[in-house]
Amino acid sequence: MRTHKPPCVFEPHSIMMSKVHEQSDIIEHAPIETWFGVGGGADRLAKPASVEALHACLAGHGPVRVLGDGANLLVDDAGVDGLVIDLDTPAFTGVEIDARSGRVVAGAGVRLPALINATIRAGLAGLEVLAGIPASVGGAVVMNAGGKFGEIADTVAAVEGMDRSGDPVRLGRDQIDYGYRRSGLGDLIITSVEFALTPDDPAAVRDRLKSCMAYKKNTQPLADHSAGCCFKNPTLATDIDAVGVKGMRISAGLLLDRAGCKGLAVGGASVSTAHANFIVTQPGATARDVIRLMELAASRVLDRYGVALEREVVVWERTR
Ligand SMILES: Cc1cc2nc3c(=O)[nH]c(=O)nc-3n(C[C@H](O)[C@H](O)[C@H](O)COP(=O)(O)OP(=O)(O)OC[C@H]3O[C@@H](n4cnc5c(N)ncnc54)[C@H](O)[C@@H]3O)c2cc1C
Repeated sequence: MRTHKPPCVFEPHSIMMSKVHEQSDIIEHAPIETWFGVGGGADRLAKPASVEALHACLAGHGPVRVLGDGANLLVDDAGVDGLVIDLDTPAFTGVEIDARSGRVVAGAGVRLPALINATIRAGLAGLEVLAGIPASVGGAVVMNAGGKFGEIADTVAAVEGMDRSGDPVRLGRDQIDYGYRRSGLGDLIITSVEFALTPDDPAAVRDRLKSCMAYKKNTQPLADHSAGCCFKNPTLATDIDAVGVKGMRISAGLLLDRAGCKGLAVGGASVSTAHANFIVTQPGATARDVIRLMELAASRVLDRYGVALEREVVVWERTR
């Protein structure tokens, strides 16, 4: 399984020309690393060293976007305007674990696999069902990351952050409108998340982690550059012969496979032959290749089944 993002293809000379504004920690012309390994950079990128620095950099830069681990993200080749905020700094990567109560508080920039390991070591169950999902805690909570064995919403007790004006927000689990790959939290900048986990035998939890991981390895092309599943699993609006009945949520990968998408390619991007909902990239691929391939694959499913697939991958493009 791939455990690192591919090297960023941003041109080195642009990086050398980057300028750091010391007071606001803002870097101009910064690369954005994503698991797809394609696409452009940020006109401005901030790595805030504190909540106050985060607050201070919100005004005056145009649209503000938050970068997690870049595991569900496609950045257009032309990059993005405004400000990109990266919370992978010590201020947002702390973890507090109370093994007795199961209360865990993690900064939004903490990498989910590291948090899963730390909680298992502490004898806590709940997050192991997310084994093999690359994410930051913030990104996982916004996307409601999950799969066959569960989703992160099952363990979230509260979310802290700020709105785009910098006003602090704290939401309890019952105030969050969680659904399948949806949280309604996209307008917030999440800074930390409180989880309610359950004390359990670490060996038993680790066994469950191993079987979740084995399932993922057997069914998904984890060693390739991708963003995981490109499309959400749709709910059928009508009965479809040999697929499912109205109201059923069915696998987008199955529809893409049956519509003949496996192996379909545009430039350096292709639909994985192992899992039809994964688009994988080769060196030299562009974000445009991926976007055109997503459009092509979705149009095949629409033509064959009348089902309009909704993208799970987040696409960032310039606003001007
Ligand atoms: C190999 C592979 C396997 C995968 N398998 C799965 C799977 O099984 N299940 C699954 O659900 N997903 C899967 N994914 C997709 C991805 O792991 C998840 O969507 C994950 O939640 C993305 O988190 P991230 O931190 O990388 O977010 P990013 O990709 O960086 O961002 C995604 C969105 O979250 C927003 N965001 C990120 N951090 C914050 C924050 N702190 N505050 C506010 N908004 C924020 C971003 O602005 C963006 O809109 C897979 C991806 C890969 C590459």
